[in-house]
Amino acid sequence: MEFPVYLDNAASTPLDEQVLEAMLPLMKSGPGNPSSLHAFGVAATEAVEEARESVAALIGSTPHEIHFTSGGTESDSLALFGLARAQANKRHVVVSTVEHAAVREAARRLEADGYEVSRVPVDEHGLVDPEEFTAALRPDTAFATVMWANNEVGTVQPIAELARVCAGRGVPFHSDAVQAAGRLPVNVSEVPVSTLALSAHKLYGPQGVGALYVRNGVSVQPLQVGGGQERGLRSGTQNVAGAAGFGVASRLAMEALEERMRHDTELRDLLIERMTGLPGVALNGHPTQRLSNNAHFRVAGVEAEGLVLLCDALGYAIGSGSACASGGHKASPVLLAMGQNEREAFSAIRVTVGKQNTREEAEGFVAIFAAAAEQLRKLSPLQKTKS
Ligand code: PLP
Repeated sequence: MEFPVYLDNAASTPLDEQVLEAMLPLMKSGPGNPSSLHAFGVAATEAVEEARESVAALIGSTPHEIHFTSGGTESDSLALFGLARAQANKRHVVVSTVEHAAVREAARRLEADGYEVSRVPVDEHGLVDPEEFTAALRPDTAFATVMWANNEVGTVQPIAELARVCAGRGVPFHSDAVQAAGRLPVNVSEVPVSTLALSAHKLYGPQGVGALYVRNGVSVQPLQVGGGQERGLRSGTQNVAGAAGFGVASRLAMEALEERMRHDTELRDLLIERMTGLPGVALNGHPTQRLSNNAHFRVAGVEAEGLVLLCDALGYAIGSGSACASGGHKASPVLLAMGQNEREAFSAIRVTVGKQNTREEAEGFVAIFAAAAEQLRKLSPLQKTKS
């Protein structure tokens, strides 16, 4: 077994060797701009269009509904601000309380700009109740948004049901599928979302490239103007090698979806079973409706940050709460929305597996974890408080 062992695949996945191989020639071969008419430009266009077809195939869309962006965050911003601007007479939006910061902060910005924001609560597992969601919709709702699967606790939402409610009411519905795509079936021909955010680095593609799916006929206003690339929705020269890498990663994800889900589920269930058997460790998120690669725990009497650092020193990289939220010392809004108190939220760790991880690695982690948690409990000021 090689150290360090990487168990933070929700934060970012390692670049697939085949993806790298597809990207390298494009990075080396010269200054091809897809907007140029000469042979270099044509080669760049071909690479981007082939990638568009592969990303489209992954989610069951047509290629022209895919717009390349710089990642999941940009795709979420483009969807939320773009949908709002497209219907300037509607000034109300609906979001869930467990969204990634990319959506949460965009909604906050809309609120500062005078929009009324309805935040739909979740239960203790992080699930949105379709009835409460439906009740929040109004005639002046510009859009509603609920993520497909949560990046912290892994809970998978009843997206098909929520999307159908919105379709029935004529309300545009955005879903952040950054964690879901490539980890479970995501098919826009079966689920009537209006827009969908994707990111390559969660499915063994490169960082810094993503896509926004926009269903035919749905109106989204661009946020940046310029050369009119990506059907006018996202001006700026495309990241050609990045898009090509995303394309290959999407094709591999589609071909290997079942196998990856089987592999990840096996390791996830091993982690959940062994970890929850340890004293003071409980599972966060839904017991069954969860991402195949996500195991998330609260560890009584321990501060997660210290635990993550100790595990790191022992050769295992895991996450505390959400990678995007860590760095600042703030309790995870997702865990608070699920009804946990601050102490519980600060004791949360996230262990997320990927296709490269082995059973031996998962077992090795559980073995060092028990000792690490015990060591920290002895030192922690939280030791005497019950969780
Ligand atoms: N949405 C979710 C659910 C995520 O997990 C992430 C990344 O952590 C993002 C959006 C942001 O994606 P990116 O890092 O590509 O900007």
